[in-house]
Amino acid sequence: MEISTRAKKLEPSVTLAAAAKANALKAEGQDILSLTVGEPDFTTPKNIQQAAIQAIENGKASYYTPSAGIKELREAVVKYIKTFYQLSYQSKNVIITDGAKFALYLLFQAVLNPNDEVLIPVPYWVSYGEQVKLAEGVPVFISCTQENEFKVTVEQLEAAKTDKTKLLILNSPSNPTGMIYSEAELRKIGEWAVLNDILIVSDDIYGRLVYNGATFTPIATLSEAIQKQTIIINGVSKSYAMTGWRIGYAVGDETIISAMNDIASQSTSNPTAVSQYAAVEALIGEQDTVETMRVAFEERLNKIYPMFAALPGFKLEKPHGAFYLFPNIKETLNMCGYTDVTKWVDDLLTEAHVALVTGAGFGAPEHVRISYATDLATLEEAVKRIAAFIEKKSVN
Ligand code: PMP
Ligand code: GLU
Repeated sequence: MEISTRAKKLEPSVTLAAAAKANALKAEGQDILSLTVGEPDFTTPKNIQQAAIQAIENGKASYYTPSAGIKELREAVVKYIKTFYQLSYQSKNVIITDGAKFALYLLFQAVLNPNDEVLIPVPYWVSYGEQVKLAEGVPVFISCTQENEFKVTVEQLEAAKTDKTKLLILNSPSNPTGMIYSEAELRKIGEWAVLNDILIVSDDIYGRLVYNGATFTPIATLSEAIQKQTIIINGVSKSYAMTGWRIGYAVGDETIISAMNDIASQSTSNPTAVSQYAAVEALIGEQDTVETMRVAFEERLNKIYPMFAALPGFKLEKPHGAFYLFPNIKETLNMCGYTDVTKWVDDLLTEAHVALVTGAGFGAPEHVRISYATDLATLEEAVKRIAAFIEKKSVN
């Protein structure tokens, strides 16, 4: 049986592929340091685990839930957004999904018609463009420069806009760059989107993970008109160390949320019940653990950023959020006699046993992505191995 054209055209997730490759080598007994996937190395906080255990023991986790999620969790999201964004919504404005990734998927399926265009600043998170294509939309990639911290400007948006433009995806703090848009930058973008009736998809998944005094401004908070023009995408994976539980959510216009829910009802039925009960505790329970983990990421960043920045040829600014470094390594490649990042990353894995993700999947083929959501000892050892690898290649 031949597979569909749709499936054939799809680029599988490079982050998950790099992680799987590193894990397979580890399983063979190789001493691999994996700085691939973006997932906290902490275990889910105890109070959240307990909430899940309780939901299993009292039988609540045994059943299907409403496809938009249990009432308690939709209400918890409303409360969370009220607390952290000072914005008012109702449960009908919220859908709970199987991770933020599926919230994005449902959104594109719900609003895009064939050939509708979606503006995506580059570098971008690996799934945006592919998900847009799965919905028969057209990703319109806008190159952002390292000099402007990889942030898109209104001038660039204006130049990329056509009468088919329907959505703009913003991700601040950004995966992979860790950069954060300022309030002034977001205000300009938001006003432009309102003026042009372009829906803003605000992927806020790293909003709690900002460092060294940086602040996260959700674009939806900047005016009532911008709020109306925005769908907030968020989830518990990153802030609460809950990647495996698969709970995300979308918040915004009732008609869009309802269309997303119809699609969810015919695809996944509902996100896993036990995970939803755990997520209620995450969002409205004790929040101290979020700060403990944030501080740990900040300490790692402050310790390891100078070490990676000092690697020969690595060009990178210090990120302000998320948990990635995204250096341009073009000069390193020249020094090592390579023309292609993929080959360099492959050889680094085979010869130095350090796994990174190539930048191509993020639209930036001169870069590599380094996840520092792992312990300091691993990160320090990885820097040593990369330095030794570069030195070995440079003398040859
Ligand atoms: N958006 C961004 C920018 C991400 O890095 C991730 C991480 N996978 C997601 C969305 C989706 O997260 P999840 O599906 O685990 O909630
Ligand atoms: N967002 C994470 C990353 O970028 C998880 C992997 C994925 O969902 O692609 O590594």
